[in-house]
Amino acid sequence: EALEEAVVEICSSLDVDAAKLDELTAYFIECMEKGLSSTSVGEEKTVDKGLPMIPTYVTSLPNGTERGVLLAADLGGTHFRVCSVTLNGDGTFDMQQLKSKIPEEYLNDREITSEELFSYLGRRTRAFVRKHHPELLKSTGENIKPLKMGFTFSYPIDQTSLSSGTLIRWTKSFKIEDTVGKDVVRLYQEQLDIQGLSMINVVALTNDTVGTFLSHCYTTAARPSSAGEISEPVIGCIFGTGTNGCYMEDIENIKKLPEELRTRLQHEGKTQMCINIEWGSFDNELKHLSATKYDIDIDQKFSPNPGYHLFEKRISGMYLGELLRNILVDLHARGLILGQYRTYDQLPHRLKNPFQLCSEVLSRIEIDDSTSLRETELSFLQSLRLPTTFEERKAIQNLVRSITRRSAYLASVPIAAILIKTNALNKRYHGEVEIGFDGYVIEYYPGFRSMLRHALALSPIGTEGERKIHLRLAKDGSGVGAALCALVA
Ligand code: BGC
Ligand code: MG
Repeated sequence: EALEEAVVEICSSLDVDAAKLDELTAYFIECMEKGLSSTSVGEEKTVDKGLPMIPTYVTSLPNGTERGVLLAADLGGTHFRVCSVTLNGDGTFDMQQLKSKIPEEYLNDREITSEELFSYLGRRTRAFVRKHHPELLKSTGENIKPLKMGFTFSYPIDQTSLSSGTLIRWTKSFKIEDTVGKDVVRLYQEQLDIQGLSMINVVALTNDTVGTFLSHCYTTAARPSSAGEISEPVIGCIFGTGTNGCYMEDIENIKKLPEELRTRLQHEGKTQMCINIEWGSFDNELKHLSATKYDIDIDQKFSPNPGYHLFEKRISGMYLGELLRNILVDLHARGLILGQYRTYDQLPHRLKNPFQLCSEVLSRIEIDDSTSLRETELSFLQSLRLPTTFEERKAIQNLVRSITRRSAYLASVPIAAILIKTNALNKRYHGEVEIGFDGYVIEYYPGFRSMLRHALALSPIGTEGERKIHLRLAKDGSGVGAALCALVA
């Protein structure tokens, strides 16, 4: 009884209703506008500067006819990828890649230096070249043909040009202090040179959302639209380990760009630039986002970046399992669950260690519709070595479903906000829009996309607006996108 009541209360504290969606969407638009004029993108907490809204220097979108062979590298939250991409000029591409899981020590060892991380990236790049482009290593002197590379770096960067930018702060799991403030393209190029790969020129730096957006544009622009389909790509977004999005903004609205640059671009006939919103850091001041005590604990006690990316901490895959873990530990401390462990110390260590419960476990529980919740039982046994009673499993399933529903509902906020701010749903013929997405949560988590759609229909764009949205997976788009960026650089 007491457990059930406690769970109902926690679930209702995770609820996001239509009124909250209205409030958050309106505030998101306000923060976008503020961020477009605020000149600094560093995130000092003293001034309320709105969203980071980082200019990316991408001013045109691919039309599907791009051709060429380019390299791409992609540092994400869990993996580093090196690829060579052949753009076929018809919206299709071929790709060879080497994907490496980033070794734990680079994420968790406090002693690790920036140079060591980038040296690792350099060595993986050499391993890729040895396997897929051995001819590059044999060429010498004047035989060396330079190859262009695009670098996707999925962290907040103060971008200074298409090919350079300094790290504002790490997000997700990284915490290597001495990378902050440095130009990540230079750090990487230095290591490529050390590895004897100076024929590779890193000519473009891009965020994964921008890469996803460009790759989505490339593959859809050339596709003959099926009957009745007229839509335009407007947003690129990621719901994976982290979350973020980008869109095209009118250059005249990007007040933070130096005046002379704006005039020059306008002279060149450029009217729009892609903006990396960095929406993970929406409402770090908690003016409108609500916070449960679990949110506060995760942010302050367990996350590597306390005080930052609070929106991300309610949405992205890295935090879903951690939310469940914190709630379970609390219910245990209140004597409501897992009574076989008398004290906190006796709990299985995987329940005591932060970030050990991954969202894949949650996804199995989410869809468990067996009468005895057998899948849930097995997931907990396998992932945490934790036996559970039926009552406990019922509680756990309700909690899981509330955690992901909140995530998906909050995910609708930036999307509705961008569509309203750009008036995209009222442009062109029927105002239909395409959203290119990537990331394991939106790709794989059961029900996430339909919950997101529900929330969009509840949000200020309403069912009318929701119906005009086409969500499309741009799988591994950040590699292709980086190549596209390198091509125009
Ligand atoms: C980073 C963004 C990135 C997003 C998705 C966030 O933590 O700050 O730059 O686009 O994760 O990978
Ligand atoms: Mg990624």
